[in-house]
Amino acid sequence: MDLKGSVIVITGASRGLGAAMAERLATKQCRLALIDLDADSLQASKTACLAAGAERVEVYAANVSKQDDVVKTMQKIAADFGAIHGLINNAGITRDGLTLKYKDGALVSEMTLDQWQAVIDVNLTGVFLCGREAAKQMIALDCRGCIINISSISRHGNMGQANYSATKAGVQALAVVWAKEFARYGIRAAAIAPGFIATEMVMSMKPEAREKIAATIPAKRLGEPNEIAKTVEFIFENDYVSGRCIDVDGALRL
Ligand code: NAP
Repeated sequence: MDLKGSVIVITGASRGLGAAMAERLATKQCRLALIDLDADSLQASKTACLAAGAERVEVYAANVSKQDDVVKTMQKIAADFGAIHGLINNAGITRDGLTLKYKDGALVSEMTLDQWQAVIDVNLTGVFLCGREAAKQMIALDCRGCIINISSISRHGNMGQANYSATKAGVQALAVVWAKEFARYGIRAAAIAPGFIATEMVMSMKPEAREKIAATIPAKRLGEPNEIAKTVEFIFENDYVSGRCIDVDGALRL
């Protein structure tokens, strides 16, 4: 896929990995449709992308877990640009906690249904809705392209992240399913599983906790957002990559 002029949709693009992916794709002169909960929060990304060389940037406020929002937003993007060639399902949240926590034989806490459901709604249902609706528009507009789901090293099962790990395993599987189902329409799908990357999410941890994590990574450092963005670029540009998950984690294994 030639990225120049391609229309790429990115969810959760106002900061962190989404913003880094947008800026990198901007240097390839893409046309970008940036989605986040709040359109104002996307203005800085839009300015940075235009400065980096994006041919066009539009911003859209949508909650990826709400079917109405997603259907309308993908329709609007298709109407605004007349094409969709790529989607990066990047928006994600965490609500960590042990499934059950006991002290001296007594139950002190548990992962609540709210904690479970909030993460399922955004990280799994959101990816399903955005992928389905983006693919619908791509097929209607006869656009070949690729959907990338952002999974995580936690998909292998991380203690304290029952909800998050389940969603990240789920979105990897969705990429495999879509690669098979959408190949007939010229649409590829793949996943990326980052390890610990230096975004706000990770940098807001206590420095001691961060250092402890970094020490367990064979590469002895956190990853940089641009290292995930480079992987996005590689997947989009290589038409034979489909149905697979690329781990970018400095060799860390959970
Ligand atoms: P981040 O800094 O927290 O950014 C996530 C973005 O998604 C935020 O802009 C957030 O908006 C937006 N968002 C949250 N819920 C949304 C919703 N319902 N609808 C639309 N947008 C929503 O996270 P990040 O570190 O860049 O991570 C990006 C992705 O990579 C996530 O899927 C995460 O699970 C995955 N990942 C990250 C790491 C890491 O080390 N950073 C590692 C593995 C995987 P608000 O700002 O308004 O909340």
